[in-house]
Amino acid sequence: MEIRERLAALQRTAERLELTAGQREEQLEKVALYTEDFLKQLEARPVYQQDRQGEEAPFGFSDQPAGLDEALELLHEHVDSTGFNIGASGFLAFIPSGGLYSSALADFIAAVTNRYAGVQFSAPGVTRLERSLVRWLAEVVGYPDGADGDLTSGGSIAALSAIVAAREAYEIRSRDVEKFVVYVTPLTHHTFLKALGIAGLAECPVRTIPLDENYRMDVRRLEKAVIDDRASGLTPWMVAATAGTTDMGTIDPLEAIADVSEQHRLWMYVDAAYGGAFMLCEEGRKRLRGIERSSSVIMDPHKGFFLPFGSGVVLVRDGAQLYRAFHARGTYMQDLKTDPREAHSACDLSPELTRPFRGLRLWLPLKLFGVAPFRAALEEKLLLAEYFYRRIRELDGFVTGPHPDLSIVAFRYRPEAGNADEFNRKLALALREDGRVFLSTTTLDGKFVLRMAVLAHNTHLDTVDRTLEVLQEKSRELLSAERQ
Ligand SMILES: *Cc1c(COP(=O)(O)O)cnc(C)c1O
Repeated sequence: MEIRERLAALQRTAERLELTAGQREEQLEKVALYTEDFLKQLEARPVYQQDRQGEEAPFGFSDQPAGLDEALELLHEHVDSTGFNIGASGFLAFIPSGGLYSSALADFIAAVTNRYAGVQFSAPGVTRLERSLVRWLAEVVGYPDGADGDLTSGGSIAALSAIVAAREAYEIRSRDVEKFVVYVTPLTHHTFLKALGIAGLAECPVRTIPLDENYRMDVRRLEKAVIDDRASGLTPWMVAATAGTTDMGTIDPLEAIADVSEQHRLWMYVDAAYGGAFMLCEEGRKRLRGIERSSSVIMDPHKGFFLPFGSGVVLVRDGAQLYRAFHARGTYMQDLKTDPREAHSACDLSPELTRPFRGLRLWLPLKLFGVAPFRAALEEKLLLAEYFYRRIRELDGFVTGPHPDLSIVAFRYRPEAGNADEFNRKLALALREDGRVFLSTTTLDGKFVLRMAVLAHNTHLDTVDRTLEVLQEKSRELLSAERQ
């Protein structure tokens, strides 16, 4: 029969996709060697690796198979030796991320076992593990029993989920969007307004509440804006508080914002993408007091829990609001009976249906190490920022922004003559070219400043000392170059 012959021929080629146990073992060994080699070289390489511009990378493929050695060589040459070395201890730019190895192993297990994580019926164990993880995170934040949440790919999608839950909770329909007012600050992360637009709410009036002298939301100005808006017939809807701004790590006054939110029935949205993990340690809990009174919180485990990229969390104080926003069904799902005595499926709390078993990458490190080293590492980061802040102020010529609320210190060099912005731009560039540490910059009150952000689990006292040395060395070099 012709069709049987044709099928046999197709099978012979298609079967190449199925590896034997021996092939799998061999490949695993090669990948293990490759990743081990990467990690061994990480600290020796510059933290910022200049891209070889214009280089043609041979990323194409054809009908012909290539060996794993060849593919790994390509990765090594054209992917892993260019750009930021995020996992290096000297990466003190933007918001650092650790990249815990056991989390990578968890991703590997999750991909190999490939449970269908979106629906309770298809992977009840995954659902239970992820629900217990979300419950634990809700406890860490201080939310009551009815809270719920979702494990997302990052902060941006977590923000989108929180905003959609808030939109549905206030029953905002498209024809009324212009009546619902949102309150932000100049330091609100840009992904918040982006998510607002994706949620169909770009026409909401957005009030930018000024900052106080410590770069935190001026809550009296917030309350006044809310009262004014109400008086002019609008509905004050959502206030976006930030618990750890990306620019300088500042925390908006959460207790006072909660007071205003409760009194004026606002959705108190807390962006704790960077700062949320500090709730694990005593000192962090003190500084973030009031977060437990919010309506929703977003956190990024790929920042403060030191995971590789791909982990965000949204938590909603009244979990039913998240369910109401995202619960949906199709006819082809009729076999997937959900047990009402069990926890909700992930797909009922999320814009996604099919998704990876995302909880494992957070659960495995917590299980393997216990919580104590995370707590210690986070307290260590707070103290390292404090240490850097004190030391840099003692160095000639350096000035800082306010005392750090978390683990970011903004500072600049103040030269006696010449353009200070220009000098600091050169200083940042000199640091980057030197490669021992990598710091990013921002603009505060119109001034160009450097920022030291410490968050990776492997960044310790020696790195901060090294940073102080490099800063002194490079500022001196720049000064003497200018004098010549
Ligand atoms: C990182 C960050 C975000 C965005 O999260 P992604 O995971 O990058 O999508 C939002 N807000 C703050 C404060 C952040 O630090």
